[in-house]
Amino acid sequence: MSSFDPVRELDMRRDLSDASWKVLLQSDEWDASLAAAADDKRREIYGDEVYLRGLIEFSNYCKNNCYYCGIRAGNQNAVRYRLSKEEILSCCDEGYALGFRTFVLQSGEDPFYTDVLLCEIVSAIRARFPDCAITLSLGEKARESYKAYFDAGANRYLLRHETANDAHYRKLHPDSMSLQNRKRCLYDLKEIGYQVGSGFMVGSPYQTADCLIEDLRFLQALKPDMIGIGPYITHKGTPFAAFPSGSLSLTLRLISILRLLFPYALIPATTALGTIHPQGRELGLKAGANVVMPNLSPVRVRKLYDLYENKICTGEEAAECRGCLERRIAAAGYRAVTAVGDVKFPAARLLPFPERNADRRI
Ligand code: SAH
Repeated sequence: MSSFDPVRELDMRRDLSDASWKVLLQSDEWDASLAAAADDKRREIYGDEVYLRGLIEFSNYCKNNCYYCGIRAGNQNAVRYRLSKEEILSCCDEGYALGFRTFVLQSGEDPFYTDVLLCEIVSAIRARFPDCAITLSLGEKARESYKAYFDAGANRYLLRHETANDAHYRKLHPDSMSLQNRKRCLYDLKEIGYQVGSGFMVGSPYQTADCLIEDLRFLQALKPDMIGIGPYITHKGTPFAAFPSGSLSLTLRLISILRLLFPYALIPATTALGTIHPQGRELGLKAGANVVMPNLSPVRVRKLYDLYENKICTGEEAAECRGCLERRIAAAGYRAVTAVGDVKFPAARLLPFPERNADRRI
């Protein structure tokens, strides 16, 4: 019998050799023990708490043309919308009343929202909800822009690196985009003092086990506070329409691996995971995830933030969503909490700039 036990090794050493990574990533042999070890780890640090984030998808205009994404500029069939500052604030009002204490503002890269307007929106949310965290997910910006939003009151920023392999990055994006700039953004965000989230799609076209190993190694270097992964899901309005979606089992395996590699990370059970399997988010929680991000956008625009096909939760009002998720979380054996839900420990925190962070912890 072989003594090869990658789960134990990962748990103890928080790393594996490339050869062991490859074996672990490509086999389902350890899935049950990975999930059990990951669940132990999350309970040790975060107990049974699951943090809720209210997601406001405020614009689906985008100047970029990522080959996988349904709201890419080149998708002529996308019906575009934008929410005004007042509409965004009323989503926050509704969310606050439902117990949300983190608002995540996400959009395509939409130049309509200038830095001045974005700062006005962030300041208005900050003034009205001083006890809430404000998370932005607006794509790639100049460092000064990130700094301005931070100074206006934003605390966290989500920007998935998408893939850490340069050749793979170029297969997923047009030449106008680069992995180098994406990484520059992530490091700028950390230095400014944001809690930073990164991540990638699982099973994106041309992804190999080697790409995934590079993703893990990149995350080890970046040390993000939040890590979002979900399966790639096909969309007919993209050049990748013919590629199959990513798998549930590989996504769950990677969630468990991420929990063992980054015990303190905030890891969502994503909407994409819930889209490829009816119990996807519950399974994600059981595999080590500890965050869910229900939608607070007005129902009339929900279907239009159409990154991939058959996206779930596009019909219900926010209150229904909240209740449904709370029941699902409880059924999976966890507890939805309304805490602001900052990262518990700062292994990942920006150590060189403690003074900048100190006053940002809420
Ligand atoms: N403009 C922002 C937000 C992008 S949408 C930004 O650039 O960060 C948020 C995430 O959805 C993306 O980072 C990507 O990882 C994911 N996504 C996009 N298209 C997808 C698809 N077809 N399947 C699964 N996830 C997708």
